Amino acid sequence: MSTLDIKGLRVAVGGGEILKGVDLRVESGEIHAVMGPNGSGKSTLAHALMGRPGYEVTGGSITIDGVELLGLEPAARAAAGLFLAFQYPIEVPGVPVAAVLREAFAAMGRPASEALAAEMAVEAAALGTSAELMSRHMNVGLSGGEKKRNETLQLVLLRPRFAVLDELDSGLDVDALSVVARRIEQARRDNDPPLGLIAITHYRRLLQELRPDVVHVLARGRIVRSGGPELASELEDTGYAGYREVSSTS
Ligand code: ADP
Ligand code: MG
Repeated sequence: MSTLDIKGLRVAVGGGEILKGVDLRVESGEIHAVMGPNGSGKSTLAHALMGRPGYEVTGGSITIDGVELLGLEPAARAAAGLFLAFQYPIEVPGVPVAAVLREAFAAMGRPASEALAAEMAVEAAALGTSAELMSRHMNVGLSGGEKKRNETLQLVLLRPRFAVLDELDSGLDVDALSVVARRIEQARRDNDPPLGLIAITHYRRLLQELRPDVVHVLARGRIVRSGGPELASELEDTGYAGYREVSSTS
């Protein structure tokens, strides 16, 4: 079993401090939902976890089983077992998905399967898409929903210890979301150790498919509330009115 432990994480972007001390601890097999108003820093948290340039960590720690990830390159964080499914997957012309996966396996210190192309085809079918689409140059020309399936395909094949899903539901219709969520749920159970998840989302929809153990509300740079799945339902009914930025002029 593994533990992803985020303690007192502070992150500045573009000159402003966005995260002001985030604490979040995820164990293998757990699903933690992170919800919160637009601009509250959810994607900033995801990028800071992965070590994206431009996201300056000004305090705190991020460890997996006691190993500090801060200061490591994104590839080394992947090697430590972390995976990020982007809110807006990037297009990389000229680079096939299989090449990205081979690099990722190499970074993780595991050889890619000889049968990677065949495995990609099987996963593409399981995700309700074609191997041809998924084997194109990274995300180039794919629809929003196809990019999300592509992220899921990579997640399933790479078998990370922990995955951050940033608005995985955006771009997927109800049926596609159900297919993708069920495949991730299967990976959560089948991986060894079982996959731990941070599911960033606005909508209860995803959380009906991917039942969270804990729901957190990120607002004003901190996790201001945590609860069970019922908190997601409450937020869908009441909105984030009580959690928005407090303007200094009002
Ligand atoms: P969320 O995902 O919760 O909607 P984000 O993490 O994307 O929020 O953004 C949080 C805040 O940080 C916003 O005010 C946003 O404008 C700012 N921000 C995010 N990324 C950047 C960036 N690369 N440069 C400047 N400001 C950024
Ligand atoms: Mg976001």
